[in-house]
Amino acid sequence: MSPWESVLQQLEKANKILKIEPMLLEKLETPEYVREAALKVEMDNGEIKTFRAFRVQHNSARGPYKGGIRFHPRVDKNEVKALSFWMSVKNGVVGIPYGGAKGGVEVDPKNLSESELERLSRTYIKEMYKFIGPSIDIPAPDLGTNPKIMAWMVDEYEELVGHKSPGVITGKPMELGGSEGRLQATGRGGLYVLQAALEKFRDDALVGSSGQGLQIAIQGFGNVGANFAISADKAGFKVVALSDSKGGVYDPRGLDPEKIYKCKRAGGTVAGCYLKRPIIGVPEKLKISKLGRVSNDELLELEVDVLVPAATENVITAKNADNIKAKIILELANGPVTPEADKIFLEKGIRSIPDVLANAGGVSVSYFEWVQNNMGYYWEEEEVNEKLKKIMVDALGNVWDVSKEYKVDLRTAAFILSISRIVKAMKSRGG
Ligand code: NAD
Repeated sequence: MSPWESVLQQLEKANKILKIEPMLLEKLETPEYVREAALKVEMDNGEIKTFRAFRVQHNSARGPYKGGIRFHPRVDKNEVKALSFWMSVKNGVVGIPYGGAKGGVEVDPKNLSESELERLSRTYIKEMYKFIGPSIDIPAPDLGTNPKIMAWMVDEYEELVGHKSPGVITGKPMELGGSEGRLQATGRGGLYVLQAALEKFRDDALVGSSGQGLQIAIQGFGNVGANFAISADKAGFKVVALSDSKGGVYDPRGLDPEKIYKCKRAGGTVAGCYLKRPIIGVPEKLKISKLGRVSNDELLELEVDVLVPAATENVITAKNADNIKAKIILELANGPVTPEADKIFLEKGIRSIPDVLANAGGVSVSYFEWVQNNMGYYWEEEEVNEKLKKIMVDALGNVWDVSKEYKVDLRTAAFILSISRIVKAMKSRGG
């Protein structure tokens, strides 16, 4: 099932309760703008290469469009459309005054030199700058992009419009108006949501634990996965499995995410960084190709308390959902669980904390960054983290209450909460 098909199914499920007027429903099913460009970029050897690029602006009823830009070889229009829809929903779930958008370029950034990457990033803005702006559409980093790329993009935008405009892009480096805590925000926000959810699940007698010592497996060790792993480890959870695109490691004694992160940033892989340590005590029953090593598929099926997909979408499907042993799935990636897998989880009593809630910490601190840019006054990290925690804990509480009121799962509850807010804004604007 494609991500866009997942979107339509999720919307349909929420609409069974919401019963949205057909005209408004059709608007939600159709992004407001789909921008496409063929980026012509000079390679270091003088050759000109063309890259397909997109910016999809889904809905702006609640405020300017907002959403990241992804550099990944599998980017396509349907995926970006789905991601833009999830951004609208996410911003509604946490109640920040934005609509939803997403951008993407079909490219493997690992195959470009730094100067090629800079030319590609600047070309993207040359093609799209007329459609973005601090009160129009505000991009940010996503899979395959980072603060350095945001710096090139904001610089290019300012060159083109002829004035400083830090609020046009968030996730910038500090020296260009970035916010304290933005880099860690998605992972840290995920931890706040998980902790708040465990409190609720405890009332529900499902997990029966406050979280200390719970075993966690995390797929994806980039900005989101690594920062979540480090925060969770510090909060007393036991991170037992980690992976990146080259594969993963499992050690039931617990891993040291901070050490692995430092080593990975110096150019290593998760497995390579971990295997520098001696391995003892790995259970025989695990299907481990090499001692301590797990593939990305094996990682998902480990016997852990919490599974955290933090890489790409559609990694848990009808094919492997039955083999998942975790009691809780914290969706830090966008769209990691398909609707068919969701159904299997409901039958098995596995709790999915949906992406539109779990990973909303990134866009929440992006919002704080934009507010600080607009004010020209900057907050300390402690203040940012306090505000982030409040947003995430309140959002979890609101989604939880909706799930109890309508007796639905957390994803459907998040959609009901958010889409009712979007529809209200659409109606206030005259439909
Ligand atoms: P990133 O590029 O920093 O890191 C991605 C990680 O996933 C890397 O470790 C990479 O090796 C790994 N990976 C890539 N393909 C994989 C595969 N097929 N199997 C296993 N691992 C794979 O990206 P990120 O910013 O950490 O984003 C990760 C996910 O979180 C994406 O789904 C993104 O949309 C979502 N997200 C990101 C943010 C943010 O603030 N960056 C916010 C919300 C959601």
